[in-house]
Amino acid sequence: MLKNDPLEQWDRDHFLHPSTHLAEFARGNVAHRIVSGGEGSHIVDRNGTRLLDGFAGLYCVNVGYGRREIADAIAKQARELSYYHSYVGHGTEASVTLAHMILERAPANMSKVFFGLGGSDANETNIKLIWYMNNILGRPGKKKIISRWRGYHGSGLMSGSLTGLPLFHKAFDLPLAPILHTEAPYYYRRPNADMSEEAFSAWCASELEAMIQREGPDTIAAFWAEPVLGTGGIVPPPEGYWAAIQEVLDRHDILLVADEVITGFGRLGTMFGSDHYGMKPDVITIAKGLTSAYAPLSGSVLSEKVWKVLEQGTDEMGAIGHGWTYSAHPIGAAAGVANLKLIDELGLIDNAAEVGAHLRAGMRDALGEHPNVGDIRGEGMLCAVELVSDRESKEGFDPSRKVTVNAVAHLMENGVIGRAMPHSETIGFAPPFCLTRDEADEIVAKTAAAVKAVLG
Ligand code: PLP
Repeated sequence: MLKNDPLEQWDRDHFLHPSTHLAEFARGNVAHRIVSGGEGSHIVDRNGTRLLDGFAGLYCVNVGYGRREIADAIAKQARELSYYHSYVGHGTEASVTLAHMILERAPANMSKVFFGLGGSDANETNIKLIWYMNNILGRPGKKKIISRWRGYHGSGLMSGSLTGLPLFHKAFDLPLAPILHTEAPYYYRRPNADMSEEAFSAWCASELEAMIQREGPDTIAAFWAEPVLGTGGIVPPPEGYWAAIQEVLDRHDILLVADEVITGFGRLGTMFGSDHYGMKPDVITIAKGLTSAYAPLSGSVLSEKVWKVLEQGTDEMGAIGHGWTYSAHPIGAAAGVANLKLIDELGLIDNAAEVGAHLRAGMRDALGEHPNVGDIRGEGMLCAVELVSDRESKEGFDPSRKVTVNAVAHLMENGVIGRAMPHSETIGFAPPFCLTRDEADEIVAKTAAAVKAVLG
């Protein structure tokens, strides 16, 4: 490890980091960490600090770090064929195999996969394909898309518009016009304390119905949603939510796009969130867990119903005018094949369900009675601890106190990575699926210590 090189200075001077306070970072007022290695659920930085990664990178290193099987598959692919495109009927053994493996695991009625690089571009693809579809079907006015406040769908022009978090819109001239946002199914912050989960779900569905009526059902193409809200605060849906929403969509012939970038391939303790909640999507967005982030790769998984229209479209108009140079990149595809095999061989989805439940139960034991802990929630290998200044009123804190940021900094000083969720006072965890019970206990003990250090 070189300690006298200028890397730290180059980082401040030349590297524009995503989702970072750029000015404070350049001035040296935001800490930086140059990460150099990882093994299992831990990462190591270049100073030799070892941290238990309670967020699996960005909810993505699902099989854990340092998996030789995936590294070897990538190296083999790079040696044999580092690249070939997938235009005009070309492909590689890895990309064709991976498409087949995805369809074997996807919910029924799914038919084809288009490959991209990340979740944002996959959502851009999905919007284009849905617009194309409605043009082919002779309904060019049916183009608006409804997503939800607190949803996160990426930060491209359209995917950033789908995102329902003001930080991603402010000063970027977003959201663009055809995107509308409806209520988030955030039961803890329901409008009326007396509402049951079912009543709140019915209210969310009635808000959606009202928006559709206001806009005109013939103008709405699709509803876009994560099975569990991720970046918006790790919020599982209340009882009955998906059934109530699905009924509204079916009645108005509105497509459902399930953004499973976080939930796809096991994060909820089941293969897909759509099956977990009985959703009936027409399109599924996949990314992160497809390769466990060993290489960039995403996918748009299309139902037979959508596929049939694309088939008709190209019969009428010729080849589809959509594709990326790196669609189905063989190195990403090889990583995906090795990753999905490893998940099966090691039974990692069952482990995610079991240890994730253990993590939440431990968190409830340790912090459930704390006067500043308003809600502890999650599903599968997801856990969130929402902090409030008063449990009764559920009021937050003066933002200048940076309560969650400080709690997460304390956690980090003690060797555990959690995430100060950017849009609520919530500490989030999305550990690798290989997390052990002992590691889960460590996350719980250190989170409890951090909350007590910051809030007493
Ligand atoms: N959709 C969801 C649900 C996500 O969580 C993310 C990223 O966190 C995205 C889309 C965007 O993916 P990417 O950052 O790979 O573009």
